[in-house]
Amino acid sequence: MTFSSLGLIEPLLKTLDTIGYQTPTPVQVQTIPAILARRDLMAAAQTGSGKTAGFALPLLQRLAMEGPQVASNSVRALVLVPTRELAEQVHQSFREYGTHLPLRTDVVYGGVSINPQMMKMRRGLDILVATPGRLLDLLDHNALRLSAVSILVLDEADRLLDMGFADEIGRILAQLPKDRQNLFFSATFPPAVQALAEKMLRNPARIEVQPAPTVEATIRQRAIEVDASRRTQLLCHLIHESCWDRVLVFVATKHSAEQLADKLGKAGIKAAAFHGELSQGARSHVLAEFKACRLQVVVATDVAARGIDIEQLPAVVNYDLPRSAVDYIHRIGRTGRAGESGTAVSFISAASEPHFRLIEKRQRLRLSREQISGFEPIATTAPVTALMTASLAGPSTGGIKGKRKSKKDKLREAVARKND
Ligand code: AMP
Repeated sequence: MTFSSLGLIEPLLKTLDTIGYQTPTPVQVQTIPAILARRDLMAAAQTGSGKTAGFALPLLQRLAMEGPQVASNSVRALVLVPTRELAEQVHQSFREYGTHLPLRTDVVYGGVSINPQMMKMRRGLDILVATPGRLLDLLDHNALRLSAVSILVLDEADRLLDMGFADEIGRILAQLPKDRQNLFFSATFPPAVQALAEKMLRNPARIEVQPAPTVEATIRQRAIEVDASRRTQLLCHLIHESCWDRVLVFVATKHSAEQLADKLGKAGIKAAAFHGELSQGARSHVLAEFKACRLQVVVATDVAARGIDIEQLPAVVNYDLPRSAVDYIHRIGRTGRAGESGTAVSFISAASEPHFRLIEKRQRLRLSREQISGFEPIATTAPVTALMTASLAGPSTGGIKGKRKSKKDKLREAVARKND
């Protein structure tokens, strides 16, 4: 199955080629033809299934093929999402996939000033990605009309309802034209979600794919404690010891990507950086070299790595932790693809431990922490001030239990400061 056989037009195929999507995911195989045929859709699809491209690609095509040009303060396709992070992500996907199409897309969400958003609405938009609360604010300010909406997407409908947006959605639906295409995506279908779907959808195409292989099933996740300063050495050690022929390593910044690739090179490991500041040609070259096994390590940032799809990638390493749980899933999903097994390693330092816990909490996950012989974190990684305070306060304080300050330690510090 190819994207072209699903009926996508040349400008979209060109983009998909550039970003390296080779074959449609099972969700996309079903959603793309149904959406192009203007059917309503009820899709049970999880994050990681490729659902965003599953609705964004055919939606872009419909708008590009159909015209008419958008009127001021109007929007042709509305995508409702539960969170600002998802809003940004979906918006970026539309921008990326629509690179070769003359369509205007934008995003609005709460927590930031509304005035610039009102300005953006003036010229009208082909696609607007929005969280429900801010969309209603814009409607209340008469900054936007929904009378020209011909396609509505509800993404992560179960989360929208979980987050208490049922009333907002009701108010938004009331302002939409009756004659429109509705695309309803949800990971789960509890009764409230089912009821909303039934209210909104007309004779929908029902799509349910087996959830993408669960993280637990195919990907071995490891959390290794190591001091930040020793991560490069540990990475070299793991690469040699585990005989990984190809590793995708994630870092937080372009600069770190360059630096780490350089250090690995000096250690005799063929590595290249992969980030947004490289030209498209340079990126394609790195990917081709990696695919051909002429590069052993690619050191990437999150944004750049989104399109990487390489079969049988044995390992992904979070050298720097991802910012969010969603990024974590996207990152580790680069290994263990198509039923292959893979390893995802996260380096955890005393400073990043609380952040990793948050990621684990979001993923309902708890990994046991490992230490590698010869790379154990130095026991006294607690901040110097805490150590000093503990010794100043005397043995009766109980000292420092772990590597991080406990609440009690912080209280003791405060008391010690007061008594100084
Ligand atoms: P989603 O489920 O929409 O959050 O997408 C999960 C990830 O899969 C994203 O990082 C996409 O960039 C990527 N992706 C979506 N479709 C494809 C495809 N056909 N081939 C390779 N990667 C894809």
